Amino acid sequence: MMIEVDVSAPKPSEAASKFLAKGTHAMLIGGEWVASRRGATFTTHDPATGEAIGELQRADGSDVDDAVAAARAAFSSGPWPAMAPMERSQLLWAFADAIEANIDELAELETLDQGKALYVGRWAEIPGAVAQFRYFAGMATKIEGATIPTSINYQPEGKRVHAYTRREPVGVVGAILPWNSPLVLTAMKIAPALAAGCTMVLKPSEETSLTTIRLLELLQEAGLPAGVVNVVTGMGGEAGAALAKHMDVNKVVFTGSTATGRKIVEASQGNLKRVGVELGGKSPVIIMEDADLEAAIPGAANAIYFNGGQVCIAGSRLYAHRSVYDRVVEGIAEQAKGIGLGHGLNPDTQMGPLVSAQHASKVAGFIGAGRDAGANLVCGGDLVGPNASFITPAVIADASPESSIMREEIFGPVVVVTPFDDTEEVIAAANDSDYGLAAGVWTEGLSNATRMAEQIHAGTVWINSHAMYDASLPIGGMKQSGYGRESGQAALDNYLELKTVCAIV
Ligand code: NAD
Repeated sequence: MMIEVDVSAPKPSEAASKFLAKGTHAMLIGGEWVASRRGATFTTHDPATGEAIGELQRADGSDVDDAVAAARAAFSSGPWPAMAPMERSQLLWAFADAIEANIDELAELETLDQGKALYVGRWAEIPGAVAQFRYFAGMATKIEGATIPTSINYQPEGKRVHAYTRREPVGVVGAILPWNSPLVLTAMKIAPALAAGCTMVLKPSEETSLTTIRLLELLQEAGLPAGVVNVVTGMGGEAGAALAKHMDVNKVVFTGSTATGRKIVEASQGNLKRVGVELGGKSPVIIMEDADLEAAIPGAANAIYFNGGQVCIAGSRLYAHRSVYDRVVEGIAEQAKGIGLGHGLNPDTQMGPLVSAQHASKVAGFIGAGRDAGANLVCGGDLVGPNASFITPAVIADASPESSIMREEIFGPVVVVTPFDDTEEVIAAANDSDYGLAAGVWTEGLSNATRMAEQIHAGTVWINSHAMYDASLPIGGMKQSGYGRESGQAALDNYLELKTVCAIV
């Protein structure tokens, strides 16, 4: 049976339409909105329909040089690092207010550019961006060193040693961003970097640059000084690569795939710049024998299908105790079949298209390879929609632990369900992955759950929940999911250098 997807949608609001009506969008360098030096542009599309929705500057190394020079000038002689921490804090709070006041417009633009159902941006991700700015507004005034008692005994007679540490901004930061949740992931980098006193060059994904541009317009109106945050748009291999290897960038922070993360680490070697990489995942969700299935089944469904599975912490490997396995498979399939597909701007839509037809075809390829390797497609997995950019939510069973659908990040609405018999077995299976980003455990036995949380190799373990984010909770990976942490106090450390001062006084 042919599955139809209705991609009709209400017209965007007046505010979003006004932004889109500009047609061609400039880059922000040194406080000015500029075209790329060579005049090159590229087109961004609404993935639901395939229609063009904007033209963006296609930066190359020369534009990146300009942006880095502007960030360097703002860092060395501009107002930002010299500004009193309380003033910086007030500006960060004003940025949060500016985002919040324009949240409906930003959510619509995010949906049009990325495809996501409107509620994802409007109620989860963009409020998350606001929270990042408010949390780090509070941190700007709390960057403290320590005085350190030493045992040095060779100071001149009558003198003493006074030793202390300072935490100083790392300098110019290059931030390279992915397409799945552009606005909140950008906020997760800007807010702590600015709180620390750094200046920045952002390179949003070529798939989803619109909300970064609109965000920077709003921050400028709210008082962002020239050169403190600069934006270059363009391709990863051009603008991204130039930023990653730039000799005057002190730190590069990257969120994206593990494959690109490796290139970023290699590119950082020229000037040994600091690197933070937030990479892919293949996160296990474990439903124990004693789990409350009324909560665990919808919880596990949401863990994979939220934002069409295009979430780094998506629970893509589901392990269910054999005694509840059949009920879990049936329950997840029921949830999957109940998800309404459509244009993200349509208020009834629960899942929009994937970010592009190209990505949807890659996801369909994974499903095909899984079936070829003997797995059983319980439901979904169809590539549909007028732009062939939707995948119907899929449930797969009986996959071999060595198959690509069990080992590689699919980044789509595809969950693979596997039975287990005891805790030791499921911990070993959960840890049998190159990735270590996140995990979930559903059980009523909390003391067992906390023991399991210790044994699972992942940066975050959720118990009886999934994807509970907060600006205060560090998030990041173990193993090939990367290094460094975002959110929480740990995120500030990404943007600070520790200096020791030892004086004879
Ligand atoms: P990607 O690696 O394809 O691209 C990410 C960014 O890197 C883009 O801006 C791209 O233009 C740029 N890029 C590409 N090649 C480059 C190069 N050679 N040099 C410099 N920059 C380059 O990732 P994506 O497909 O946009 O995003 C999806 C991935 O992001 C998934 O793997 C997902 O798990 C990961 N992700 C991780 C987290 C986390 O916190 N760990 C969060 C969100 C997404």
